[in-house]
Amino acid sequence: MKLAVIAHDGKKAEMVSFLNKHYNFLHSANITIVATGTTGKHAQAAGLEVQRMLSGPQGGDAQIAAQVAEGLIQGVFFFRDPLDIHPHEPDINMLMRICDVHNVPLATNPATAELVLKGLAVASDDNN
Ligand code: PGA
Repeated sequence: MKLAVIAHDGKKAEMVSFLNKHYNFLHSANITIVATGTTGKHAQAAGLEVQRMLSGPQGGDAQIAAQVAEGLIQGVFFFRDPLDIHPHEPDINMLMRICDVHNVPLATNPATAELVLKGLAVASDDNN
């Protein structure tokens, strides 16, 4: 299973600490993490293993949306900063729309992401 993680600049630290907190579960559940460029760079600097796409404003969100559309990504954690403006707003909206089109779980804040991970943990227990 592949999970995409994206965080706006004001939320990157929160994303890294979220991933750190849940890394053992993600690793043991064989969940691969793909990230937009700068979010991925922060995660890698913290010692986490993630695949990196382009930076969001350079098309990283669009690359992740394409993988969601192709059925290659099964969940998206997108910690958005609602207090900032983003030049790539059309790409952000497109990614969220594609998640809805394909019924892929999309968490836009850490509280929802926690619940999604709890759901995944229950599902993986049921499979074992
Ligand atoms: P970034 O992109 O991780 O490359 O900063 C995130 C975003 O879409 O804003």
